[in-house]
Amino acid sequence: MKNLILIAAPGAGKGTLAKALKEEYNYVHISTGDLLREIVASGDPLGEKIKDILAQGALVSDELVFEVLKKRLMEPDCKGGIILDGFPRNLQQAEKYDEIVKEVGLDLGTAVLLDIDESILVSRITGRRLCKDCGAIYNLNNPDMLPKVDGVCDKCGGSLYQRSDDNEESLKTRYATYLEQTAPLIDYYENKGILCKVDASESPEATLNQVKEIIKEGE
Ligand code: AMP
Repeated sequence: MKNLILIAAPGAGKGTLAKALKEEYNYVHISTGDLLREIVASGDPLGEKIKDILAQGALVSDELVFEVLKKRLMEPDCKGGIILDGFPRNLQQAEKYDEIVKEVGLDLGTAVLLDIDESILVSRITGRRLCKDCGAIYNLNNPDMLPKVDGVCDKCGGSLYQRSDDNEESLKTRYATYLEQTAPLIDYYENKGILCKVDASESPEATLNQVKEIIKEGE
C-alpha cells in the first residue's frame, strides 16, 4: 500500500481521514500528536515538559519528534503501508524524514494536501470531540458527525472529551504556525513530484473518496 503523508491545517480533517483509511485499507496510522499525547498521559517525566507546549498549540522540539517517530517507524507493521498525520510540520522535519525513511527502509510515498478555507476551521475545531477509549472523532457542529448519545462514543461506549488545544485561542497559534512552518511543505513535495491536492471543505466522505482515487491511481 502506498504510504501517505497528510498535510493540512488544524481542523481540516487529517485524523478523521486517517482513521477511515485505516479501516478501509488496513493502513498503520501514525499521528505524532497522538504519540506525544500518549507520553503526557503515561506519566513519563518527559510528558511534564511537553504538556504545556501541546496545550498552547506550539511545536515540540524536532529532536524529540524524530526520536518518537523513528521508534514507531521501526516497528514491523509499518511495512504494510503508513499514513503520517501531523508530521512533517516544517521543512527541517521533511528533510530529516527523507533520511529516516531511507534508514528504516520505507518509501516516501505520496503527500496529500487537504485544501480548506480558514473560515471553516474554527467550527471544526471547537466542535471536535474524541473518544477517550478508541479515539473515534465526532463533531458537535456537524450534524453528520454527532454521537447518537450525548458524550458517549457510538463505537465503543467510551466517554467523549475535548482536546485541551481545541479552542479558538490555541487554534490561532496553531494556524499561524501551519502557515509559517508547514505550508512551505506544499512546494517541497510538489518539487519532488509527489504532491496530490484534495478539497477538504465538504464532508469526511467526500474527502475520503478523493483520496481513494489517489490510492487507486497509484496501484
Ligand atoms: P496534532 O494532533 O497533529 O494537532 O498535534 C498536537 C500538538 O502536538 C501540536 O500542536 C504540537 O504541539 C505537537 N506536535 C504534533 N506533531 C508535531 C510535530 N511533527 N512537530 C512538533 N510538534 C508536534
